[in-house]
Amino acid sequence: MDCLFCKIIKKEIPAEIIFENKDVIAFNDINPIAPVHVLVIPKKHIASVASAAQEDTLLMGELIMTAKKIADDLKISEKGYKLLIRVGKGGGQEVKHIHLHLLGGVKLSENNL
Ligand code: 5GP
Ligand code: ZN
Repeated sequence: MDCLFCKIIKKEIPAEIIFENKDVIAFNDINPIAPVHVLVIPKKHIASVASAAQEDTLLMGELIMTAKKIADDLKISEKGYKLLIRVGKGGGQEVKHIHLHLLGGVKLSENNL
């Protein structure tokens, strides 16, 4: 399948991977909009939240808990951070493989992010 993030999962395209287990992988965004900008994605190809199924419930939860762990590891939890999932064209989603943005390291409300 011609999916950019599936290619990152298969290590066919390089990325700065910062966490990986059997279900999810997390890597730095190539074009960060905050000092911390990590993408957390399921290894299973799911195009968007809109096409996720009931059976993906646990996996969707794992995306959030992985972001939480990374935020703790990067010591940005105390100051706070933002988790963002864009859904579909109108939501601004460009890559058609679900990804959770972890944004932090800056006071987000002052930067309109
Ligand atoms: P979206 O707009 O779909 O929510 O976010 C897609 C994100 O993927 C963007 O923030 C973009 O910078 C990032 N991105 C696009 N291509 C690549 C890539 O090849 N490698 C990495 N690490 N990030 C990418
Ligand atoms: Zn994919």
